[in-house]
Amino acid sequence: VHPVSRGRNWGYGSRVPPRDGAVVLDLHRLASVGDYDPELGTVRVEAGVTQVQLHDFLLARGGAHLMDPTGSTPDASVLANALERGFGHTPHADHADHLVGLEVVLPDGSVLRTGLAGTPGAAAAAAHRWAAGPALDGLFLQSRLGVVTSATVQLMPRPAAARSFFFSAVPGTGVADLVDALRPLRQAGTVGSAVHLANAYKVVSGLQRYPWDRTGGATPLRPEALAPLAAGLGVGPWSGSGALYGSAAQVRDAARQVRRALRGRVTTLRFLDDRRLAAVETLARRGLLPGVLGRGVGLVRPVHGLLMGRPSPHAIESAYWRMREPFDAARAPERDPDRDGCGLLWVSPVLPLRGRDAAEVDRIVTRVTLGHGLEPVVSLTLLTPRSAVAVVSLLFDRTVPGGDEQAAACAADLTARLAAAGYHSYRPAVPARRDGTGLDEASARVVAAVRREVDPAGILSAGA
Ligand SMILES: Cc1cc2nc3c(=O)[nH]c(=O)nc-3n(C[C@H](O)[C@H](O)[C@H](O)COP(=O)(O)OP(=O)(O)OC[C@H]3O[C@@H](n4cnc5c(N)ncnc54)[C@H](O)[C@@H]3O)c2cc1C
Repeated sequence: VHPVSRGRNWGYGSRVPPRDGAVVLDLHRLASVGDYDPELGTVRVEAGVTQVQLHDFLLARGGAHLMDPTGSTPDASVLANALERGFGHTPHADHADHLVGLEVVLPDGSVLRTGLAGTPGAAAAAAHRWAAGPALDGLFLQSRLGVVTSATVQLMPRPAAARSFFFSAVPGTGVADLVDALRPLRQAGTVGSAVHLANAYKVVSGLQRYPWDRTGGATPLRPEALAPLAAGLGVGPWSGSGALYGSAAQVRDAARQVRRALRGRVTTLRFLDDRRLAAVETLARRGLLPGVLGRGVGLVRPVHGLLMGRPSPHAIESAYWRMREPFDAARAPERDPDRDGCGLLWVSPVLPLRGRDAAEVDRIVTRVTLGHGLEPVVSLTLLTPRSAVAVVSLLFDRTVPGGDEQAAACAADLTARLAAAGYHSYRPAVPARRDGTGLDEASARVVAAVRREVDPAGILSAGA
């Protein structure tokens, strides 16, 4: 039995069970949102509740709280993403960190509730993670030890003021410089959002398809061929985004500090709120913005929206990078990378929030991906005050014979080389998941003992 909540686990195994002959338990009809507490900022979601559903629910109740969207489809599951330890953009970006009171159906059919939710009548069940004694929540993240049917999400209060910011690094400023410049601001809480850095490959793949004409059909797109393309689009070696939240005075002060930290390292640094963005868009529509700014506006709105708690389908387009056929909206209006043969595998190492680690990961990724005929499409999310996750997109065309094998070999090689350098994946694809991978002997023994006790017949997502 392999549970999926919405089955949009694109790039990490989609909805495919780890082995043949499994029953897919599709939970999308568990779709109720409830128990919203406007004082505490908590809400209960069932497994099938989507990002857009939670967003609309909160808006309909006055919009006093924000949900934290990922860059994936608005139709992905809020709960499944948190169970996979997925992340988004706002100060609540680390989704598992804001999930409490899991209701779990175990393989024997019994129902368990984690934390205070398991203590009948506990008044703080939605507000406080820990009950007395050992905590069980972590057992059900990326674990296949139970089917989680619902949980409480702790929400972010809508701030009085909020501004997103966007910047582009000057040539010669590497990812290490940016990480070291931004770390103090993340650690002090000046920048509350996760900060998202993207290399030129990542930004260009969000703006257009693979330049088949320019390359005469050759792959991969080498850095020398990317450089003029990126320059023409006004895309620097690294671009970044984040947001500031608080009172108007706090946001103004934080903006000053961001400006100071990035001075000399970036060419453009723009701060936007909803009103200013609308004004910029009006100028762009009338052709009154210089080339680069005008073209960039299309990318800015969805990212700004994510930072303000609004899900967007926009990023899905990037999964179509290597596809030659234009997207046929007449045939099916919504993008679906699985249906359309888009090849996407993520490799997502976690690293300490230090410039030298970011540079080393970037170096390994560039060498290995190009060596396997794929582009080093990289984003780096400064997720917590002390750690970052690099998300490498291996983008290919599944309709090209041999494409799957080429990308799988690249993913395996890249994962191994990063791990050898100390950078382990925060989230392996479902079929590649093995108990004990990377664990010391005692930890592996404890996990095996729990699995024997909880799922002795190996019913759940077996083969993983
Ligand atoms: C362009 C693009 C951008 C993306 N951006 C992001 C991003 O910003 N952040 C991010 O985290 N991801 C991102 N993704 C990856 C992915 O699409 C999301 O993580 C998405 O939320 C996963 O799909 P889902 O929520 O429908 O989960 P599902 O596919 O329903 O579930 C994922 C896995 O979790 C387990 N699972 C699901 N439900 C349960 C349950 N109830 N109980 C126990 N186990 C369960 C299963 O093993 C399942 O395979 C992106 C993907 C694309 C293509």
